[in-house]
Amino acid sequence: CGIVGYIGNEDARDILLNGLSNLEYRGYDSAGIALQNAGGVHIFKEKGRIAALRSIVDPEIQATQGIGHTRWATHGEPNRRNAHPHQSASGRFTIVHNGVIENYAQLRDQYLGKVSLKSDTDTEVVVQLIEHFVDGGLEVEEALRKTLKLVDGSYGIAMLDAENSDVIYVGKNKSPLLIGIGDGFNVVASDATAMIQQTKRYVELMDEEIVLLSRNGYVIKDLDGNVKNREPYTVSFDA
Ligand code: GLU
Repeated sequence: CGIVGYIGNEDARDILLNGLSNLEYRGYDSAGIALQNAGGVHIFKEKGRIAALRSIVDPEIQATQGIGHTRWATHGEPNRRNAHPHQSASGRFTIVHNGVIENYAQLRDQYLGKVSLKSDTDTEVVVQLIEHFVDGGLEVEEALRKTLKLVDGSYGIAMLDAENSDVIYVGKNKSPLLIGIGDGFNVVASDATAMIQQTKRYVELMDEEIVLLSRNGYVIKDLDGNVKNREPYTVSFDA
């Protein structure tokens, strides 16, 4: 299973699909991508191989940011409906997640009694909770941090906000995730193989950190909102 996200000025569709292909070795049962452009957030997902996903992605669609996922199902059978990305009730927030939310049933019962969930996954509870807290008046970043504080378990997540095309929200705890730094673009992925074609400069993430990833920068914070300064390192790969 794996995650890839891209925000920049190039065609996100091919970058995401190629990144997912490079993550295939990790194993998965379904895959999906979300592409964000002026027309909104467009989701494509499918059970099976990346080739199956590739064949259903609109070849005309232009977007310069997006997120992708390969799923190894833990909650909810492997099918199209449970494949990631998952969206909040209004469609504003779109998330991909690797890991397991141990207390998703309790969080769902406590906060989401009025929301009709669209999948059987633990992941959907995270994106619905973020929208729930935004509806309650929090800024998106605050809602993300609050949600991740409530969550028990492991996560690498990447999230799009249909009302903000300048950021991808990232979160990490006990699942692998790192940032790739480019010139006018940035990338996030479960491992470097997914972004090796884009960049060889990476920033490590620690547990219980979020990142606000934009085209020209990245801000890392802990779950209390304190900024963490961390420089990229450069890796040289032998061909
Ligand atoms: N627990 C989530 C699910 O079952 C994510 C699984 C994964 O890491 O791919 O959908």
